[in-house]
Amino acid sequence: MVRPILPKLISTSSTVLILFGLLLFNLVSCSSGHDLDDKTTVAVSILPQAGFVEAVGGDKVNVVVMVPPGASPHTYEVTPGQMASLANARMYAKVGSGVEFELAWMDKLIAVNKAMLVVDCSQGIQLIPVAEEESEAAQEHEEESGAEHHHEGLDPHVWLSVRNVKIMARNICDGLVRVDAHNKSYYEANLAAYFQELDNLDAALTADLADVANREFLVVHPSFGYFAHDYDLHQISLEQGGKEPEADYMIRLINEAKQHSIKVVFVSPQYSAKSAEMIAQEIGGEVVMIDPLARDFVGNMHGIETAVKQSMQ
Ligand code: ZN
Repeated sequence: MVRPILPKLISTSSTVLILFGLLLFNLVSCSSGHDLDDKTTVAVSILPQAGFVEAVGGDKVNVVVMVPPGASPHTYEVTPGQMASLANARMYAKVGSGVEFELAWMDKLIAVNKAMLVVDCSQGIQLIPVAEEESEAAQEHEEESGAEHHHEGLDPHVWLSVRNVKIMARNICDGLVRVDAHNKSYYEANLAAYFQELDNLDAALTADLADVANREFLVVHPSFGYFAHDYDLHQISLEQGGKEPEADYMIRLINEAKQHSIKVVFVSPQYSAKSAEMIAQEIGGEVVMIDPLARDFVGNMHGIETAVKQSMQ
C-alpha cells in the first residue's frame, strides 16, 4: 500500500516546486531587471568600462556598451537600437569625467529607463587639467596669440590610469551591490582579486619606467594625461582643444620633438593619423598605434607602457 503512494507524493510536490520556481523566476525577471539568463544588465559608455564591469561582475552581468569599437567618445551619437538596449539595464555606469558623449547624451539615455541606477565611475577621482601635460610649444603659441585657453579645462580620460581604475572598479562594485545585493560577496571577492591585479600592474609600470631618462612622448589625441601623471611622464599632443594643429604650431612641435629626440608619433584607432604621418616624416620617425579604448585594460596598459617606453629611448 505504501509503495504507490510515496512516488505520487514526491511527484506532486516536485510539480508544485517546479511551478512555484517558474513563478518565482518570472517574478524575479520581470521586477528586478534580470535577463532571462538571470544576469544583471549593466550599461556603460566606453569599452574599457565594459572590462571593469566584467572584472567585478564576472558571470553575473551582461554589459551593453554605448560607444562601439573604433568610435570616439568625444563625438559619438547613439543609435535608436542602442537606446532600446537600455530598456533592460539595471545600472548605467557613466565615466562621469565630462566626456562629451555623456554631456550630450546622458539625460536622453536615462529618460529611456528611469529605473536604472546611474553610477558615476569618477566619483572620488581627482581630475587633472589638460594643460598640465601640455607641450611647451602649445603654451608659447597661446601666449603669443593672446588666445583664451582653448581647452575644456579638465582632462576627461580618467580611465587611462591604473590608480583611477581602482576607484572606478570600486564605484562599479558598490553599484552592483545596490542593484543585486544577493551577490554582494561574489562582487566583493572579484573586486579584491581585480585590485590585486591592478596593484601588480601599477608596480610593474612604476618599476619599468623608473629609470627612463627622456620622459616625453608625442601623441595625436591627448588621451594619456593620467597615465603620464601617474608615472611622471610628459605627454605632448598634436591635437589642440580637439582640433587639428595649425601650421605654426606644427613647426614648433617638430622642433620640440627634435630637441627631445622623439622618434615616434602615437596614433589611436579612433582618430586620423594624417598629421601624425606628416610629423613623423619631418622628424625621421615612425607612427605607432596605441589604443585608449581597449576592452582588456590590464593587457592594453602593458602594451601602452611598453610602446611609450620604447619611444622614449
Ligand atoms: Zn579622447
